[in-house]
Amino acid sequence: MIKPIQHLLVAGVALTAFSCHQKAVVDEQDGLSAFNKDSLASHIITISADDYKGRRPFTEGETKTIAYLQGTYKRFGLEPGNGSSYLQDVPMVEITPKSVSPLKVTSAKGSFELKNIQDFVMWTERTDTVQSFNNDDVVFAGFGVVAPEYKWDDYAGLDVKGKIVMVLVNDPGFETGDTTMFKGKTMTYYGRWTYKFEEAARQGAKGCIIVHNTAAASYPFQVVQTSNGGVKLHLDKRASHDYQLALQGWITHDNAVKILQAGGKDTSVLHTANNRGFKGFNTGVKLSETLTTKVVFNKSHNVIAKITGTKRPDEYIIYSAHWDHLGVGKPDAKGDTIYNGALDNASGTASILEVARAFKAMKTPPERTVVFLSVTAEEQGLLGSEYYAENPIYPVDKTVGNINVDCINNIGKTKDVNIAGSGESELEDYLKAELAKTGRYLAPETHPEAGHYFRSDHFSFAKVGVPSITIGGGIDVIGKGKEYGKKMDDLYTATRYHQPADQYDSTWNLDGGLEDTELFFQLGKRLAFESTFPQWKEGSEFKKLRK
Ligand SMILES: [Zn+2]
Repeated sequence: MIKPIQHLLVAGVALTAFSCHQKAVVDEQDGLSAFNKDSLASHIITISADDYKGRRPFTEGETKTIAYLQGTYKRFGLEPGNGSSYLQDVPMVEITPKSVSPLKVTSAKGSFELKNIQDFVMWTERTDTVQSFNNDDVVFAGFGVVAPEYKWDDYAGLDVKGKIVMVLVNDPGFETGDTTMFKGKTMTYYGRWTYKFEEAARQGAKGCIIVHNTAAASYPFQVVQTSNGGVKLHLDKRASHDYQLALQGWITHDNAVKILQAGGKDTSVLHTANNRGFKGFNTGVKLSETLTTKVVFNKSHNVIAKITGTKRPDEYIIYSAHWDHLGVGKPDAKGDTIYNGALDNASGTASILEVARAFKAMKTPPERTVVFLSVTAEEQGLLGSEYYAENPIYPVDKTVGNINVDCINNIGKTKDVNIAGSGESELEDYLKAELAKTGRYLAPETHPEAGHYFRSDHFSFAKVGVPSITIGGGIDVIGKGKEYGKKMDDLYTATRYHQPADQYDSTWNLDGGLEDTELFFQLGKRLAFESTFPQWKEGSEFKKLRK
């Protein structure tokens, strides 16, 4: 539970009293004078310029970006965050599919073939260049969830070793919306596709195929097709003993029906697996598939810097923002091929640089160590942050919290901010308290079923038990209202998001982005002068991971 805290605002100074017999005085104003819009904009303009080539890992764009970040942290007077280095190597592997055979479905009734991309998508994260299913059994395992806190185990009594599991996307609470079932419509991590593959691998399965459903996934099959058909980067896990599936992928709902029918099974299980007492089964169907790949090993980098705390140097607050973007790719209608990623995420990268500068400008330096982590390969699946979390430079049980920034507001000052996923940790309450000091508020989550909490770099910290939060710009624009903010947001998504047009230009208004950056600073500053550790909330699936 959160410790009771009272704020006494006296002449701009909040005196914060703690229940653990320790009093810290935080000067609310200390460091704030460091902030200015020009400095914030200058980083964005630099690293989103065409000569940074869209900042894709392994390219000249990476070399320039990490040089800029190291130089800037150094210039601001921060210490290197990894021994004597500002870099953490992130070993990765680039896997390009060369050929994917049709998926051959065999049962007592005969056999038929499904078409790659049209009917299913399949890929591998293993680094040997040929992977296959060789007439392997398919087991239907409901949602593929093992969640002791909800007393749910879809794998109970099933032997899936060396077999292929077929599972449903989302979690058992989604279809009924019953809030006593998991979190009802709000997606838990058990509903996210990445979890399905991780759990199937833990169970010893050879492969895992997720049955697509637009409502439950929150996106159409087309998104699955376009994001999984081509070249992908992964962490190089050769050195660790993490078991990986031979093949993993998605199949359309209609083709899952065909597979169940081929085995003579009841297809209604695709909708009734959320009933308590549902039991998985062998479908009586076997699959064959061969996939060949080209594999290239390479190394990208996280950039890391710190300010050592004066009183509790072995307790850490970590700011993060991904520096990478999509690089050079398909031309848009204007023939532009450089995906500049000015908002995504030159802006968040700039924001934490400015937070670092403000911490260095404080008259009373932070009592805890404050770490700034600019991570690589977010666009490839949160890889840089995952690598840090699995190979932490600072102990995770001494890491107080993670504040992540992925895109800042460029549409003017707002009354609100939003966070990716709500109800997970007390950092949310800390944020609300900071917002209240300036009369602002936390916007309610708009799509709790979409699992946004699992889609940004803070999530890599959550997975190792560190309370973490991604804070994003609001839409309640002062003087213009929510309609305007929503319109601007939608316009960005439609015309610039993950397109070459995500560029810095004169239409940007960074007043709100600057104010939010000050908020990120104030939130971390408060943690930096406290001795308490924010906790996961009751019912959070990450609570059990915190030591
Ligand atoms: Zn992005």
